[in-house]
Amino acid sequence: MIPAPEIIFMGVLVGIILASSLTHLFAISSLGISVFSKSPVCESCADPQPYSRRIPILATLFFSKKCPVCGHEPPRLYAFLEMVIFAFSIWAFSAAKPVLALQISVLGFALLGVTYMDLKKWIIPNVFILYILAVALLAMVVGTVSIAHALSGLLVASVVSLFIILPQKFGSGDKTLALGDVKLCLAVALWLGWILSAYVFFLASVLAILTWMLSGFFKGFSARRRVPFGPFVALSTMIFGIGRVLDPQFVTHLLTYRF
Ligand SMILES: [Zn+2]
Repeated sequence: MIPAPEIIFMGVLVGIILASSLTHLFAISSLGISVFSKSPVCESCADPQPYSRRIPILATLFFSKKCPVCGHEPPRLYAFLEMVIFAFSIWAFSAAKPVLALQISVLGFALLGVTYMDLKKWIIPNVFILYILAVALLAMVVGTVSIAHALSGLLVASVVSLFIILPQKFGSGDKTLALGDVKLCLAVALWLGWILSAYVFFLASVLAILTWMLSGFFKGFSARRRVPFGPFVALSTMIFGIGRVLDPQFVTHLLTYRF
């Protein structure tokens, strides 16, 4: 089925808006600038940059120049990430009803942002958590997830959060509490509801443990060596989130094991 042109147009529009926000949010969350600031800044020294910096994909590939103050050049990877967000939004709008496509597009955008920042800087910026909370709120308003399911999802995430915090509180590893991980788990759980949350956190834990073991062969085993949990939560959420987009009865199927 070929979707109507106006639906594709909506996907393009959402894709452009999200893609043009990504590196801007990277910059303001790295520098600790207000999330309401709209003007582009150098992510390294906070020097104001021309507005053309916010044109997605093209800015990074063609007319982004070195920062005149500090000489910082945005990585080419940004263009790729923006391309992924843009393409994903168009796909979402062609595959699902607009209200669900909007949710999964914004969710994909926020989770990609979380993954990049967590892998790169060991932080999960609050601004991306706010996007996820906004998506969860929209989902509750339009009935994608019932309030009861959202709140019981929160309960599942709270249990998972204990497993994240407790080992760090008592002993092993450094003393920094992974509060970013906890916030991420609570936020996605609201959107997921308890059934999807259970699947997502289980898959994320398995992936994290496997990665910890695999990287152990190369870097040596130590309880002190941390594996960022955020990216696995993000990946698992997207896998099950896309399932929800493709199959309207996905949650029921997961619950009854009948596909
Ligand atoms: Zn600079």
